[in-house]
Amino acid sequence: MNHNLFETFAAKMRERADANFITTREGRYYTYKDALRISAELAGALTDLGVTQGARVAVQVDKSPEAILLYLACLRIGSVYLPLNTGYTGDEIRYFLNDAEPALFVCQPKLEDEAQALAAETGCPAVATLGTADDGSLMEKSRHVTPCEEIATLGENDLAAILYTSGTTGRSKGAMLTHSNLASNAETLMKVWHFSANDRLIHALPIFHTHGLFVACNVILMSGASMLFLPRFDADVIFSELPKGSVLMGVPTFYTRLVQDERLTPEVTAHMRLFISGSAPLTSETHEAFAAKTGHAILERYGMTETNMNISNPYQGERRAGTVGMPLPGVDIRIIDRESGTEVAEGDIGILQVRGPNVFIGYWRMPEKTREELLDDGFFITGDLAMRDAQGYVHIVGRDKDLVISGGYNVYPKEVEQIIDELEQVEESAVIGLPHPDLGEGVTAVVVLKQDSHVDEAAIIGHLQQRLAKYKQPKQVFFVEELPRNTMGKVQKNELRKRFADTYR
Ligand code: ATP
Ligand code: MG
Repeated sequence: MNHNLFETFAAKMRERADANFITTREGRYYTYKDALRISAELAGALTDLGVTQGARVAVQVDKSPEAILLYLACLRIGSVYLPLNTGYTGDEIRYFLNDAEPALFVCQPKLEDEAQALAAETGCPAVATLGTADDGSLMEKSRHVTPCEEIATLGENDLAAILYTSGTTGRSKGAMLTHSNLASNAETLMKVWHFSANDRLIHALPIFHTHGLFVACNVILMSGASMLFLPRFDADVIFSELPKGSVLMGVPTFYTRLVQDERLTPEVTAHMRLFISGSAPLTSETHEAFAAKTGHAILERYGMTETNMNISNPYQGERRAGTVGMPLPGVDIRIIDRESGTEVAEGDIGILQVRGPNVFIGYWRMPEKTREELLDDGFFITGDLAMRDAQGYVHIVGRDKDLVISGGYNVYPKEVEQIIDELEQVEESAVIGLPHPDLGEGVTAVVVLKQDSHVDEAAIIGHLQQRLAKYKQPKQVFFVEELPRNTMGKVQKNELRKRFADTYR
């Protein structure tokens, strides 16, 4: 049996040959037949550039349909797709090229000179360019070479991609994902979220991350559905497209922006069947406000680069605000006590571990880190703290690394943040632990106020006094204009910890 994921996609693409795969707002339109042909041409170009089975193809380009066709071309020939955040600068790219040793680096046309220099320095043998308008040297070449119609025969553990983690808690790690990892998750998600060929996904996420690349595109390819490719989230564009779409996948900031907009109504969302959220926590307030304004309960799910998706709220059945739902079919979870190492009781918080066909096979060239986090019995230590309630819904409480231990007591930042956020004047907050001479760590709140609102430290601590034990109350409150976030909208608490490191010293 050939485990090449492209084999599965190709069958669907042939079946849906004349149907639409991707469109853009500029009116570019690709059928599945186009996708089959162009991915074969691109596969020919890759081969011509010296890319062989198992070789890495590093790709740092702006979002375009061709970038997805390039991903398909890599799958087809069994090379390893390695997408990079377009925000990465020269030094970061140097690290990735050195680390991954790709056979080819595909860059934006305007950065070709820099890319050539970096490639020369890191020993990467080839560079090609890819623009957003069907342009660049790679597309050019693809039109002149013999297309590669063949689909590489691959085994169960052959890599489809190396995907670097978001780097929220430290340096990004390269997660090695196999064809089987991606195939199993796409199939599961297609089923549990009821995707069919009739769906039209509004795609406004970046495609260098698991959410926009694998969750979105693989599910669409599996089901033979179509997607509208938008360069970024733009509320005006989203509102004009909602009446033509069926599903939106977003990070929580999409939804916080939509609920603040008076154009959000039951009418404008009437054509949509599903709104999905993930990559960071969606607050209950946003979930509830969205439901009140549209009648749609946002479906929140939980996953990560290393595993794709693990846990999801149900399609049919209650989608509960503030929870990520139940383990997906085929995924096992367990929640482990930080101290004793045994499973916690229902309702108690511990470190979440997951196991399933979706779980990666290790970190690229980090055997020790792999051994620490990927256990012999197949469970992966997610690094997230979670609790399972009496109804079986999983609550993600935060990251283990963000847990504050003050005077020997565990303080879960989310619990404190939720109460601070109840204050009318507060836009959002982040609770962190900072080195403290007596307590080990001092609970500290960093607060963003709503525009033209005022509230002081005493009022915030006063509000918490009735609600939280003394050891959970912040020793100090800082006010900032905004919280530091990465491209996926994740709050970077390590930045805050650095910034306020000397508070108690
Ligand atoms: P790094 O591992 O490099 O520090 P990262 O963990 O942010 O970065 P990703 O793999 O992109 O990199 O993100 C996965 C993480 O995102 C999860 O471990 C979890 O902390 C968070 N996450 C994803 N979905 C949700 C969700 N629905 N609710 C809460 N957190 C979520
Ligand atoms: Mg992570």
